[in-house]
Amino acid sequence: MKYDDTAKTQKSKSLSIGVLGLQGDIEENISAARQALKDLKLEGEVRPVRYPEEIEQIDGLVLPGGESTVQSTLATIQHSLPAIKRRISEGMPALGTCAGLIILSRRAYDKTVGETGQKLIGLLDVVVERNAFGRQGESFESDLQIPMVGKDGFKGVFIRAPIISELGKDVQVMAKFNNKTVAVRQKNIIGTAFHPELSGDSRFYQYFLKMVLDFKQGRLQR
Ligand code: GLN
Repeated sequence: MKYDDTAKTQKSKSLSIGVLGLQGDIEENISAARQALKDLKLEGEVRPVRYPEEIEQIDGLVLPGGESTVQSTLATIQHSLPAIKRRISEGMPALGTCAGLIILSRRAYDKTVGETGQKLIGLLDVVVERNAFGRQGESFESDLQIPMVGKDGFKGVFIRAPIISELGKDVQVMAKFNNKTVAVRQKNIIGTAFHPELSGDSRFYQYFLKMVLDFKQGRLQR
């Protein structure tokens, strides 16, 4: 009996993290999440997920950066959007970086092309403006203050990044850059306009993994 209890506790401490493996910087997100697991001394595994049956088995999902229109098209073809949507609405934590933030959002538009009509998960109650800082050549890095993650500055890497132009009432601002919202949290969902997986600093991922652990142990408020 005692042995069983221990085994159960050990299991609930072991996290299974999925990185949506359709397009974009999948490997970089896998490495960053693995590093954060190590830094937190948590057991677990991180792997790419594509299909609904894989999405059923994870405790937390990362939606990587890349090209959101391509990612939503591929997710539609592979029928993974409804499974992702249901798991997140049931409380599974999700972290969307850049293109991933766009896919989680309620609405996305582009300054030059307007409405993009791409399929979105829509659970994060924000409106995002895609490519708001310009093209690839206008990519940049900036030191951000993200108090929820730690008191020292955090390197924000912005690559054809969106900005969050409207926020719903349950959405908390995590970070701003030049007075524009660039990271948010809404209960179990985090969205960043920048790429925390490219900063060489695992604190953002550690914050996310703690959310996943809370979810797994039934402590995450929905
Ligand atoms: N501009 C891209 C898009 O709209 C996002 C860029 C990124 O993920 N670095 O999908």
